Amino acid sequence: MQFTAINFTCPSCGAPQKFSPATGKLVCEFCHTQTDINVSQDNIREYEFTEAVATLNTQKNQIIEKNVKCKKCGGSFTLTPYSFSSNCPYCNTPAITDFIKDITPKSLIPFTLTHKEAQALFKKWVGSRWFAPNAFKKYLDGDNTLTGYYLPYWTYDSDTTSFYRGLRGDVYYVTVTKTIVQNGRQRQVRVQEPRINWTPVSGTVYVSFDDVTIGASKTISRAILDSLEPWDTSKLVTFNEKYLSGFEAEEYTVGLDNGFEFAKVKMAYKIDQNIRYDIGGDQQQVQQVQTQYENVSYKNVLFPVWTASFHWGDKEYHYAINAQTGKIVGERPYSYVKIIFTVLTLLGIVGGFLYMNETGVLQELIGRSATHYLR
Ligand SMILES: [Zn+2]
Ligand SMILES: [Zn+2]
Repeated sequence: MQFTAINFTCPSCGAPQKFSPATGKLVCEFCHTQTDINVSQDNIREYEFTEAVATLNTQKNQIIEKNVKCKKCGGSFTLTPYSFSSNCPYCNTPAITDFIKDITPKSLIPFTLTHKEAQALFKKWVGSRWFAPNAFKKYLDGDNTLTGYYLPYWTYDSDTTSFYRGLRGDVYYVTVTKTIVQNGRQRQVRVQEPRINWTPVSGTVYVSFDDVTIGASKTISRAILDSLEPWDTSKLVTFNEKYLSGFEAEEYTVGLDNGFEFAKVKMAYKIDQNIRYDIGGDQQQVQQVQTQYENVSYKNVLFPVWTASFHWGDKEYHYAINAQTGKIVGERPYSYVKIIFTVLTLLGIVGGFLYMNETGVLQELIGRSATHYLR
């Protein structure tokens, strides 16, 4: 399908203008002329969920290839499915297209963290991971290691009513007589021992949720999307293509209804905490929960993320930085050479025989260190 891409040209020299996270304005890369963006928070509202899902179910979820002709150089290129903002691969001019999906973002959080700031944060983060391979650190010295993405998210609001059954545990103490051996002699002592009295309980808790955010992109793993939280949704501004100029942007690939299933999992965690508080006592067992969701509403939004990926060995590692807060998440590659060297030094191993003996221990240490954590 042929799409016409829009871009914004500099009023002074006609070169393309891109969004600058530093100033919040459009800036000409060529002559640095700035153009204001009319910042607005008008019409940012929640939409009724049930009705929207019912309408969407009747429509097809098709993948459409977007053929785009660059307005600047006339070059033709194809955007990846669901992408609606990118840069021309020939002349780097921003290209923003129409949406394919029926639900489109009505608001977004603009980038505030610049490419430079993100890169500095990232270098610092990797620098503090001293097991990272040198090749990784070197890679970060490059200039174009990060790509800026506006990623699609759903936000959900819901009032919940949860009926629960469980057990309340109250600790009490009993005095028991025990036989101990002291100085070779047996002696009887009386000690206090804790016991728990479990009582069946049931009840109802009400929890209201506002803006539970769920990543709706399949480009980045759910683990990373979730770990980028929290997002300050009070900073949402009305959607305007100008914010996208120069950045990649995607439409959602996790549907409105599937997104809500993920939201339920997140809500269940807070509901469980509320149930435990409601049960009281010293310990709680929650055996059964039935939750009803009322007044469910949603928003489709875009959040700003700097991303990077790094090939090392036979694996690709992905990273992302929340471009609103600077929070970094990702998998860290580990240099086994560095780990082994350190462990050997710590153990003070010099002889070959000892080294052989410790190999099992080493492998265990390495195996443990090599698991990838999300921070
Ligand atoms: Zn200019
Ligand atoms: Zn071009």
